[in-house]
Amino acid sequence: MVNVTLIGTGGMLPLPDRWLTSLWLEYNGKACLIDCGEGTQIAIAQHKLKLSHLDTILITHTHADHISGLAGLLLSLGNCGKTDTLKIYGYTGITEIIRQLLCICPVLPFRIEIVELPINTKSSFMWNDIVISSLPLDHSIDCLGYSFVLNRKAVFAPEKAKALGIDVKYWKTLHSGKSIDINAKTITPDMVTAESRSPIKVSYITDTRYFGGLEEFAANSDLLICEGMYGDDEYIIKMREKGHMVFSQSGKLAINSHSKRLWLTHYSPALTNPYDYEEFMKKLFPETIISSDSQSITLK
Ligand SMILES: [Zn+2]
Ligand SMILES: [Zn+2]
Repeated sequence: MVNVTLIGTGGMLPLPDRWLTSLWLEYNGKACLIDCGEGTQIAIAQHKLKLSHLDTILITHTHADHISGLAGLLLSLGNCGKTDTLKIYGYTGITEIIRQLLCICPVLPFRIEIVELPINTKSSFMWNDIVISSLPLDHSIDCLGYSFVLNRKAVFAPEKAKALGIDVKYWKTLHSGKSIDINAKTITPDMVTAESRSPIKVSYITDTRYFGGLEEFAANSDLLICEGMYGDDEYIIKMREKGHMVFSQSGKLAINSHSKRLWLTHYSPALTNPYDYEEFMKKLFPETIISSDSQSITLK
């Protein structure tokens, strides 16, 4: 089970009723956070997420609304007793920026390992049995989108084992992925598993203009979390100039990437009621959620 919580939904500035856009993804008792704007540690506490589970932070880019809360978050992490290594991923050159931000919290009870990802090409790495991929986006400064893919093990099918006449004492061995030999015949694990299950995929795309590469990157997402600064198409040109999208472009991305669900986020502070566009978006892509802070889902 992958638990996903959108900690905040704001862009640019935190508001009294809207924290800055940030994502919490938890699997197997470990949590990964994308971005930490101002006050993210307070939002994490309000949503009753366990900061002690956090072992990895992914940074999309270094605009203040995505990184200015890093020092405060790390101090809170230290106060909750963390002693094992925290990994922070960002694009090439982020190490120096993080070092400068952390000069106000020079002593932390845990080690920080910073990993730089390429800014001119896609890359992938493993976290907690999940493949995380990064994609360079098209924003006003260097910026990365991220996707999470959990490939699920096929489930053991007792009825298949019974049909093959395999004694129960061998089931555990087959379930662990090992083959067995019975009566000069080799039984492989795939002979006693149910049809393979499709992976669980979550894509997180903000901040960026629309471009074709997003469709391939987010392809077949169970959950696409995507920015939308405004709900009205009249802002398309203005947002393109600033390196952003509007709601209908996020809907177009959900359609073209064949995603199952769309959560909108990163609203402009000037967009006081994003829910005004719910009907418009449901017509475009029915599985759209105009997210609010603490929007969450468990993907199985
Ligand atoms: Zn932003
Ligand atoms: Zn930005």
